[in-house]
Amino acid sequence: MKNRLKTSFILTFIFCTFLSCNTEKLAIKSDFVIGTICTIKIPKSKKADKILNLCFEELKRLESILSANSNISELAKVNNKASTKPIKLSDELFELISLSKKISEQTDGAFNPAIGRIVKLWNIGFENERVPKKDEIEKFLPFTKTENLLLNSQKEIFLQNGNVQIDLGAIAKGYACDKIYSLLKDQGVKSAVIDFGGNIFVLGKKFFTKQNWNVGVRNPNGKVNDVLITLELADTSVVTSGIYERFFFEGGIRYHHILDPKTGYPAQNDLASVSVICKNSTYADALATAFSVLGYKKSLEVLKRFSEQKIQVVFIFKDGNVKLSKK
Ligand code: AMP
Ligand code: MG
Repeated sequence: MKNRLKTSFILTFIFCTFLSCNTEKLAIKSDFVIGTICTIKIPKSKKADKILNLCFEELKRLESILSANSNISELAKVNNKASTKPIKLSDELFELISLSKKISEQTDGAFNPAIGRIVKLWNIGFENERVPKKDEIEKFLPFTKTENLLLNSQKEIFLQNGNVQIDLGAIAKGYACDKIYSLLKDQGVKSAVIDFGGNIFVLGKKFFTKQNWNVGVRNPNGKVNDVLITLELADTSVVTSGIYERFFFEGGIRYHHILDPKTGYPAQNDLASVSVICKNSTYADALATAFSVLGYKKSLEVLKRFSEQKIQVVFIFKDGNVKLSKK
């Protein structure tokens, strides 16, 4: 099961290319964690290996809290037990579920953390992926309302029904990126690349220079190394969601992993990929998924609600057109 996922995530791992990196002077660590290949690059120093090890310990800790694909994570415990009695949450899980509910409201439900039951029906990216029967989707869709996730001031959660299941797959990598960014900053790192599949954070300026990073956005309609546009960025995150990332064919039809919570089926609109540029990677991740559901026109309306986050978006259309939102 893990191997299957590994292969599909390698595709997004290469989505960003970092030009002109002097790799001999870098300390680099990669591992498969939080459901993707994670790579962190920082300048070599006496402390560099220790710092990288700390980062990967932190990622494993976060995975043990947030993973929807593990039977023993804190989230799995919530999904299994919180419909019978309220469960006390860790600070991280409480923070991320609360924020997810808020972003769900702000995106008119396009990003939906309560979509877990429908995600599991499809199981896209896993061995038993399949097109669910229409009546299965109709049966479980009512349980995806975020009102079913009840949080209280004691940081407890109660799920209104045993069929309510939380999936944080569309936001957790961004959250992990933010945590690692803070950890690196606390350790005094001035320049770094954090690359978690389609979730990128470039910390500071390009290694050993005062220049911006060149971050390439992959052509979703092309081959893996086909860079469509290059963005000049510093100290920010770029998160991409695309319908090319994970999919399968059945009866000649392609089914991808970004689901429209209104229908329970893969989102259908004019977009092939969405890259959200934002200093806050948690927002960038959730919004890249939400915009992939909403399509171009509705995304522009919803984007206005996030002026505080100072977001820019690269929309790549199925017909190959590219549009950048205004800054
Ligand atoms: P991303 O790659 O960040 O767009 O997240 C996609 C993953 O999030 C999927 O593999 C599902 O686990 C989950 N997901 C799919 N559709 C949605 C949605 N509309 N809202 C929230 N999570 C979703
Ligand atoms: Mg996302």
